[in-house]
Amino acid sequence: MSVDCYTEVVHHYTDWYQEYSDGTVAYIYTEYNGSTETQVCYDDPPTGSGGGGGGSGSTYDEYVGKRLILIDSTFKNNPCLDSVYQQAGQAITFKNILQNFDEEFSVAHLKLSAGVSQTNPGANAVTLAPKDYIIEIMFNPNKLNRSKLEIARTLIHELIHAEMWRKVMSLLDNGANLDGLKKSEWTQKLSNGDYPGIFDYYTRFGVNGFQHESMAAHYRGIIENAIKEFDSSLNNQTYEALAWVGLTNTRSWTTNLTQAQRTYYTNALTNYRNNASTNCN
Ligand SMILES: [Zn+2]
Repeated sequence: MSVDCYTEVVHHYTDWYQEYSDGTVAYIYTEYNGSTETQVCYDDPPTGSGGGGGGSGSTYDEYVGKRLILIDSTFKNNPCLDSVYQQAGQAITFKNILQNFDEEFSVAHLKLSAGVSQTNPGANAVTLAPKDYIIEIMFNPNKLNRSKLEIARTLIHELIHAEMWRKVMSLLDNGANLDGLKKSEWTQKLSNGDYPGIFDYYTRFGVNGFQHESMAAHYRGIIENAIKEFDSSLNNQTYEALAWVGLTNTRSWTTNLTQAQRTYYTNALTNYRNNASTNCN
């Protein structure tokens, strides 16, 4: 009897799908998640080992899961939103967020829709707190008379909100609605968790304030990368100015920037908007 060992290479993949509100599911793409090696040993060599292969290792492919993004018909049937989403999906920073987002399949699904928020009808879009395992980003159809790049900016901003909620969700054992959770229960959950950054911002700014403060301090680089990949024709000043949109109610903006810096970004944004198309389609 002999022991025969060899290295087996496993390639990991994930299939990505979209599910529409009518129940149909469409394949989007397959994502390569890297490879791992394992030593496999047999007490007896596999039969036929004297045969022709001769390679030092073998490989096999493994599809680790299916991921779903729920696309409501209100979103899919909107030419502006659909085209921005399709184009953004080609950009690596958007892809990375979507991947992170659904890392733990059971925690929450992402849903994209269009509609006017009752509580915030003037917003470009809102990301709704998790409910029944769904984190929904709802775009305001009355706020689409902007450039495609600005809609993409809104998308990445809201995706970061969704990612923050996903992290919170992963801290909650049952995935239940957050609305019914007392603040003390929230605090307890977060203090037990693996997200000290979120916990820090949450304790300082509360449930409604922590996301923008955290985003302004730590996520503007991601926003800049995402919109630059979406449209690379502008200068860095414009990307930086766009990344601040929606975040000027934060301490990062009001306290950490000088008046000269705020003026610089405000002027850059005005310049961009004066020249940009207001026709998303
Ligand atoms: Zn926001």
